[in-house]
Amino acid sequence: MRLNILVLPGDGIGAEITREAVKVLRTVCELHGHELAMKEGLIGGASLDATGSPISAATLKAAGAADAVLLGAVGLPKYDHLPPAQRAERGLLDLRQAMGVFANLRPVKAHPALYGASPLKEALIAGTDLLIVRELMGGLYFGQPRAFEGTGKDRRAFNTLPYSYVEVERIARMAFELARTRRNKVTSVDKANVLETSQLWRQVVTEIAAEYPDVTLDHLYVDNAAMQLVLNPKGFDVLLTENLFGDILSDEAAVLAGSIGLLPSGSLGSRRADGKLPGLYEPIHGSAPDLAGKGIANPLGSIGSAAAMLEWSFGLKAEAQAIEAAIDHVIQHGPTTPDLLGGTGTTASVGGAVCSRIKAMAKVTK
Ligand code: NAD
Repeated sequence: MRLNILVLPGDGIGAEITREAVKVLRTVCELHGHELAMKEGLIGGASLDATGSPISAATLKAAGAADAVLLGAVGLPKYDHLPPAQRAERGLLDLRQAMGVFANLRPVKAHPALYGASPLKEALIAGTDLLIVRELMGGLYFGQPRAFEGTGKDRRAFNTLPYSYVEVERIARMAFELARTRRNKVTSVDKANVLETSQLWRQVVTEIAAEYPDVTLDHLYVDNAAMQLVLNPKGFDVLLTENLFGDILSDEAAVLAGSIGLLPSGSLGSRRADGKLPGLYEPIHGSAPDLAGKGIANPLGSIGSAAAMLEWSFGLKAEAQAIEAAIDHVIQHGPTTPDLLGGTGTTASVGGAVCSRIKAMAKVTK
């Protein structure tokens, strides 16, 4: 298969971690006979410095032409004073909009070697393996009208929380399809006891569930879901929710695994006419200015994002599993970076160890 990928390293540790993910992709493609057609572009502060804009028309065009985009991170304190349209983070929002990615997928898996790094007791965290499917292009973050008006004691502000049938239907279908590749369970999270939007959400999810009789559906109110994530995280398989609730719950779930540096994510849109499912893949963390240039940032979130890309955008499940198995091995046997229980490895040594493990496993299976 030919993999047409745009790489956008971005700012801070972005280039360091993305370099390791690309190394891993090259290793897997060589072993499995895939052709890697990779281009590199600018986003965030790197793009601002070079072009005066946080994302250029050329980068947006290259993203549209690619089958998938691998992103590092955007943003650095030195750009924080800029007006919103020039903020480095704007580049990422524009990219998401241009790619039409309406579903943000965030897997959270607890690794036995890291149970001690989780804020939860081992008995609670052991066995946790969940996937958050968050609606990314609708709801409160985009709803109109919205405004901040008036002055002094007359100031008021409001936002609007709209969802349409079609917006809920497409994300619900994605959650049910993904549940079929996992443990066949969807938990839909809403606030249907208070919000009309959530009542529509619950109705539509329930209607779509009828087409997936092999998948179990349950509903939780968002306040209860927040509680269940820390009381019984292994009770979740696919957690489906809207934009705002997903933003909050996915950060809550992220800390369960032990380090923010570990977690991958992917954002998907609609399947194209050629059958491909374009996606934007990135670790969940930011540019970590405190670590940039030190060579000790954890690359495993970026490497895991590359694995998710192979599975979700290219349907290469065996290749993705090889990367995930190698990540598990490296977490257990080292080297690891300092964020993981005081490891002494470097970004490059962790990436190199993942590649070596993938090669070693391929030799055994031959
Ligand atoms: P951050 O995720 O960059 O860092 C938070 C903490 O986690 C820091 O202590 C950092 O050292 C640590 N950390 C992050 N990634 C790590 C890794 N791979 N290995 C080890 N430790 C890691 O969040 P922040 O400090 O709030 O933001 C820094 C910049 O990143 C800001 O400009 C922010 O806007 C931007 N940001 C970008 C994205 C993105 O590109 N998607 C997401 C979040 C924040």
